[in-house]
Amino acid sequence: MQRVVDKKADQVTVRRLNMSAILRLLRERGTLARADLAKELGMTRNTASNIVTDLLQAGLVIETEFRRAGAGRPGLLLELAPNGGFAIGAEIDVNRIIVIAADFNGKILWEQSTAISPAQSKDECIQLAEQLVQDALNWGGAEGLKPLGIGLGLAGLVDSENGTLTYAPTLKWTNVPFKAMWEERFGLQVYLDNEANTSALGYHTYADRSKARNLAYLSIGVGMAAGLMLEAHLFHGSNGFAGQAGHMKIRTDGEACSCGDQGCWVTEVGIAALARKAKLENIDLNTVARALRDGDATMMQVVDEMAEMLGLGIANLVNLFNLDTVVLGGAMRTVLPFMLEKTRSVVDQRALKQPRENMRIKVAGRDNDSVFGAACLVLDSIMNDPVPLVRSLI
Ligand SMILES: [Zn+2]
Repeated sequence: MQRVVDKKADQVTVRRLNMSAILRLLRERGTLARADLAKELGMTRNTASNIVTDLLQAGLVIETEFRRAGAGRPGLLLELAPNGGFAIGAEIDVNRIIVIAADFNGKILWEQSTAISPAQSKDECIQLAEQLVQDALNWGGAEGLKPLGIGLGLAGLVDSENGTLTYAPTLKWTNVPFKAMWEERFGLQVYLDNEANTSALGYHTYADRSKARNLAYLSIGVGMAAGLMLEAHLFHGSNGFAGQAGHMKIRTDGEACSCGDQGCWVTEVGIAALARKAKLENIDLNTVARALRDGDATMMQVVDEMAEMLGLGIANLVNLFNLDTVVLGGAMRTVLPFMLEKTRSVVDQRALKQPRENMRIKVAGRDNDSVFGAACLVLDSIMNDPVPLVRSLI
């Protein structure tokens, strides 16, 4: 009896892995014929065909006709169904809340944001976020689309396993059980992660066609965190709090840090460091970027010093992880291009030659990697285990 149960469990596992592999390959390639799918994944045509039938029935995959040059019967290609459902991505930042709806192909279908201020209470902000999520769900409902789940990216320490925001230093929130709260409220699966992690995931999933395997996405703003993608998987660490790059020690005699220590990387790089070094009380990054474009010597000097410290920290990360890609993003994104050249040259001088070979440092191409990555938390969980969804949809 035991053996029968085990055999059945094995079959379910194999089926899950095969289904997941097919969905991932279609996401990577766009379109493929059944036969090529089986060949590339080393499955028999029969196995692949059975799984594809289930995925077609569940509406996660569709068939499109194609005609080769010349005559002959049109062939059929498979691709992920744009109408397979939609994932909600949300981000609560220090000054705005943004919510998107993305389809199974990672296309953003709906997007809304609202400004918040530190004067607003935690409950007010959460209510605003809930309203936007509800608006996205209403929109999807009106379009006849099925909601697949909600992903939430937050700046701070996030316990993604339990779905709790443990501590957000900029918002000053502690222990907010978003997963429990929102699963009850919306009746959907809720996934949480740090915004640097969601940025890394969003960037890796759809922005990076060359598929970086070892990537650090540095989200630089008021705080500073690294979303680490190691061997193509998000790295969370033992307690789930990995990636606190901003608190790497970079000086013995440095400025006091919000964490209680001194000389942390974030005291040298980021919005607070920029304000201090440029002696500005209210910092407007667009004004800073304009000054840099106009060749303001003082500002160029400040940013150059900051780029030096940015490069130093990146050299440490490169030596430690042998990264192939470092992406610079976050709230400082408009200023980062002015730091790129200097940062690269510091990394070239200070990191070991072998780990930095073929490594690239770039500025994020868009400012919504994080909220997009929040939606990817949902899409990825389905890619990892599509069996329950397929079962519920057939
Ligand atoms: Zn610190």
